[in-house]
Amino acid sequence: MIGPDGKSPGQTPNGHLIRIEHLAKTYQLGEVEVHALRGITLTISRGDFVAIMGASGSGKSTFMNILGCLDKPTRGTYKLEDIDVGSLSRDELAQIRNRNIGFVFQGFNLLSRTSALENVELPLLYASTTQKDRHQRAMRALETVGLSDRVRHYPNQLSGGQQQRVAIARALVNDPSIVLADEPTGNLDSRTSVEVMDIFQQLNQKGITILLVTHEPDIAGFAKRQIVFRDGKIRSDRITPDPRRASEVLKEMPVIDEDDEQ
Ligand code: ADP
Ligand code: MG
Repeated sequence: MIGPDGKSPGQTPNGHLIRIEHLAKTYQLGEVEVHALRGITLTISRGDFVAIMGASGSGKSTFMNILGCLDKPTRGTYKLEDIDVGSLSRDELAQIRNRNIGFVFQGFNLLSRTSALENVELPLLYASTTQKDRHQRAMRALETVGLSDRVRHYPNQLSGGQQQRVAIARALVNDPSIVLADEPTGNLDSRTSVEVMDIFQQLNQKGITILLVTHEPDIAGFAKRQIVFRDGKIRSDRITPDPRRASEVLKEMPVIDEDDEQ
């Protein structure tokens, strides 16, 4: 089902990357059932850039965790590249996760006693590859996010924006087709947030499909498509008429040089 390169067959250009039908998730908390998702149906095309919005508790993270094969739905189907994810074994799910999906979280989730370079190399420890190859791939990912000059720094020697860029490099190091980001700018100031969105827009231009959860309409405005959740359902789903370009917005924003703060 999964090819030798870790990517599934049937990858057609412009095809549907994700097809979800009647997806539901119910958590059992003792006697109480919590209906986190109540029937989500949607399609996401390869190369899309989707912002997911909605009030706290509306099911956004639950949805992202299912998309990322970190959790299973209670009902409904999830097809990723025409593979029915619900039919996969734990090992197959882990393979898809490690090879096709990159994760970025609000809190960066870096190992603190580990350099930027080693943090980025971590996901490759599960791949059958040499130390030299791991090093080269991690260096390339760090270069992509503009951190070639910070590879030996530890997380506490980096600003918030730099830490999030390390986390993005870590998400990219396996060359994923999808990046899932759950409130990646939630802990960042406004200029740094736009810098992170600039990186996501550049990745999207290279063909990586991006799904990003945010509370902020300004941030959602950088995406090509905006989906709003309410009470575990889709309230609205629309194309952004004229997405903001982060590289342009940055020209209008005051520069606070991160390097001067160190
Ligand atoms: P959001 O990310 O939009 O804030 P979540 O997906 O985290 O929403 O949560 C949706 C609902 O499911 C909330 O009511 C939340 O309390 C509940 N929930 C989330 N995770 C769990 C869990 N592991 N066990 C029980 N309830 C959960
Ligand atoms: Mg959440």
